[in-house]
Amino acid sequence: MSNRHKRIGEWLQELALIPPQQLDTALATQATDKRYLGEILIQQEAITAAIRDAVLALQKVFSSSTRLADMAIPVDTLHAIPARVAYQHRLLPLLQVADRLVIATPEMGNQALRTQLEIVTGMQVYAVPFRASDITTAIEKHYGPPRRLPAGVEWVSEDIDIEEGPLLTFVGSGDALSSGGRNSTCLHVQSQDATFLIDCGPSALVALKKLGLPTDELDGAMLTHAHGDHFAGIPFLLLEQLQVHHRKRPFWILGPAHLLEHLKQFNDMCYPGLFEKLTFPIYYLPIENDPMNVPGTGITVYPFTMEHQNSRLCLGYQVHLAEHKILAYSGDTTWNEKLLQLARDTDLFVCECSHLETITDTGIKHLAYSDILAHRERFKTKRLVLTHLGPDMLAQRNQLELETAFDGMIAEL
Ligand SMILES: [Zn+2]
Repeated sequence: MSNRHKRIGEWLQELALIPPQQLDTALATQATDKRYLGEILIQQEAITAAIRDAVLALQKVFSSSTRLADMAIPVDTLHAIPARVAYQHRLLPLLQVADRLVIATPEMGNQALRTQLEIVTGMQVYAVPFRASDITTAIEKHYGPPRRLPAGVEWVSEDIDIEEGPLLTFVGSGDALSSGGRNSTCLHVQSQDATFLIDCGPSALVALKKLGLPTDELDGAMLTHAHGDHFAGIPFLLLEQLQVHHRKRPFWILGPAHLLEHLKQFNDMCYPGLFEKLTFPIYYLPIENDPMNVPGTGITVYPFTMEHQNSRLCLGYQVHLAEHKILAYSGDTTWNEKLLQLARDTDLFVCECSHLETITDTGIKHLAYSDILAHRERFKTKRLVLTHLGPDMLAQRNQLELETAFDGMIAEL
């Protein structure tokens, strides 16, 4: 039973989300109809609007070619979420595709909850909005009536064991041209003593807001190189600190010196004069060859020279976090052996991968999947995730051997 994958129709029936006779009708239709059960159920409006919308949203996420028949949820997944959590937050696993799970919840914006669920289920979690009253019955049907605790007894056995590790959210995993409608480069890192961005492309502010990541909690940003898809979101982020958050505490920006000078001018071009009368200090932290302790953050940044822009310094960073976890990020670069040093002994190495195959045209200085795959065994990292994905990478991403990022993906270190 535990390995049995349930088709969406059976599963919805078990959860009492559709009446049995409607399922019977759909099954009868399926006998003479080539479509899958889920599609027929939607066609016949047997599935409630909220569930239908969740299914359609899921199809959008996983491309329109994903068939409903492929959307099955193993019983194991349901059991992975403790009953206490299901009741407390009124949430219900809804659909699973590969390592991705859709849950129904009234707490859609609860990032901490989603993070917890990702840890216990080992899957990426997508939330869809549901009214609590709509799913209470379904939860009780599956989990049984809520268990009550005797007074004074701590609930131990079903407590979620949450590791308080640093979290990295891929705010933007697209290339410079936002291929596939993805956001431009931006990583959000939440560590014990610091919350910061690594690169901040033009779509960063809107993407942070869509993901529910509070911008007033940011302590600073580190930038890898002077290309707009990696830094052009900064003026808007600063404007928000000024006008919305009335920020008082400092904001630090770390990067190559030439980029920081360029950025000051760019900020002023976007909003002339505005950044001269800020209510908070900006600490510009130029970095080149030597490691730097970022004041007040508990993090140390080790720069590695990458090969991307001809005449200007482009950096990859190894970031040592307060929790003794190490994150590395390549920025943009073509293949070079320093990538191996950059990745060495890291818990997570985020590496750009713009193309599928090596491009011999010397004007293009980006990494290709074929380069990275050829050297995979030489990267001494616990986890390698590819980002900055171009169109050919996106087209093939479901067939690739190496892990690729997507907008909103959370990785725990
Ligand atoms: Zn670039």
